[in-house]
Amino acid sequence: MFGLMQDWPLLMHKVLDHAAIQHPGREIISRSVEGPFHHTNYHDVRLRALRVSQRLQRDGIKLGDRIATLAWNTWRHVEAWYGITGIGALYHTVNPRLFPDQIAWILNHAGSRVLMLDLTFIPLIQQLAPKLEHIERFIILTDGAHLPETGLRNAVAYEDWLAEADGDFAWASFDERTAAGLCYTSGTTGDPKGVVYSHRSNILHALACNQVDCLGLGVADRVMPVVPMFHANGWSLPISAPMAGATLILPGAKLDGASVHEIITLARVNFSAAVPTVWMMLLQHMEATNTRIDTLKRVVIGGSACPAPITQTYQEKYGVRVIHAWGMTEMSPVGTTYQRKPEISGLDAEAALALQAKQGCPPFTVEMKITDDEGRDLPWNGEVFGRLKVRGPAIARNYFRHEDEAVLDEDGFFDTGDVATIDANGFMEVTDRSKDVIKSGGEWISSIALENAAVGYPGVAEAAVVAMHDPKWDERPLMILVMKPGAAAPDLAAMNTFLADKVAKWWLPDDLVVVDEIPHTATGKILKTKLRETFKDHRPKG
Ligand code: AMP
Repeated sequence: MFGLMQDWPLLMHKVLDHAAIQHPGREIISRSVEGPFHHTNYHDVRLRALRVSQRLQRDGIKLGDRIATLAWNTWRHVEAWYGITGIGALYHTVNPRLFPDQIAWILNHAGSRVLMLDLTFIPLIQQLAPKLEHIERFIILTDGAHLPETGLRNAVAYEDWLAEADGDFAWASFDERTAAGLCYTSGTTGDPKGVVYSHRSNILHALACNQVDCLGLGVADRVMPVVPMFHANGWSLPISAPMAGATLILPGAKLDGASVHEIITLARVNFSAAVPTVWMMLLQHMEATNTRIDTLKRVVIGGSACPAPITQTYQEKYGVRVIHAWGMTEMSPVGTTYQRKPEISGLDAEAALALQAKQGCPPFTVEMKITDDEGRDLPWNGEVFGRLKVRGPAIARNYFRHEDEAVLDEDGFFDTGDVATIDANGFMEVTDRSKDVIKSGGEWISSIALENAAVGYPGVAEAAVVAMHDPKWDERPLMILVMKPGAAAPDLAAMNTFLADKVAKWWLPDDLVVVDEIPHTATGKILKTKLRETFKDHRPKG
């Protein structure tokens, strides 16, 4: 017997309808790519999104077509998302920080028919245009007055294009499992893989994020995703903020410490989200200029591990609560956040900070487990680490154009590629990527634990640890350091003395090198494949 409740499909445009009806005047404030701040609201953005839908349909865009965006976080990007999904097409966010050839590969693989791009990316796309096989039209996210001569096929200014539709249009209706978005993983090895979100998964994920112990947005919040919309759905904020009726603040192209500080202050941001590097740049700016950010109350820090000193400084010096989060493109992306469970109340400051450095606990809709290489469950004791696997309604089951390749285990869990512990209270801690873990004599050494410990050494700016071949143990750790300007580098003995009370003795690196720069991926993670390649013949001296 089925329940007798209404069939109300979970569709993206329902979110914007809700925001426009219940919170019509709630603002969306953006730093425009052209320069000035721009103010609009949910009522107007909905009307413009309807025009995007109508205008795309007139261009022949149909259910299932991909519309690529190469764009910063602005109101135009938000209305484009809702307008694209409003007729059952997919927003295909492209990360401009990838190598140009990879961008061309992704656009061709996705078969995107239209590319909406910010002014910033015109030179990049002019260079790639001859290689783009499927793009019929380039829509530049600006008005006619700012549109330069581009030479791009059918190029048009977004505002001119939009003005050709009157908005007398109704959203299309379709199954909630219809694809809504496409985002490629950054792919440090092999070709990038396309993750296809559905309307249903986006809505369930945003609802999960809005649980009070996850990101928990509310109607009084003034939310700024610094995390770009091209980085895994902007961590759901362009969906969860209108769902909650929160004010949305969009930082455009300027993501340096001074610009982030300026927009937080001007727009009175109280909630924001970004990778650790952004929060580090903001801290450096505030220390250098002796300024503060008094409106800011909560920040989500994720995408890579958030070092404890950052959490501590924001919380103790600036009164900003840090929510450390972990997730991945395949998870829509939020997987876990720090949760103040009653079981952990009463911890002293040091223990509480150590717990916050863990990646945290999943919201409802995410299940997780850790297993050994044979798929056997491992205990949740905070010590044993294994492959982290997840399942839930907003987690990928297949990749785009690889639908027949099995990705899940027999119980429907997705292998995250992370190695983690889970403690008795359910707090997960990432100890490594499975391909980066150092396998020494059959036991695993966490490269991340060594890196986190090494950055505590005075003068160390960044640390990376990779495996080097060892005839006896198979692999042993090699530590690679970048020093802050003018700081003296430690030798191996000095570093190992420093690390001795922080990690197991057999984890201590067998060699140490100092370099000017550590390579990073387009999403800011250490590019270990490159480091392994560079140091593949490295052997400890003596
Ligand atoms: P991406 O799909 O590009 O967002 O990358 C996802 C990967 O980033 C995860 O599988 C983790 O390896 C890493 N990651 C994300 N958040 C964190 C975090 N808070 N701590 C450590 N690693 C993280």
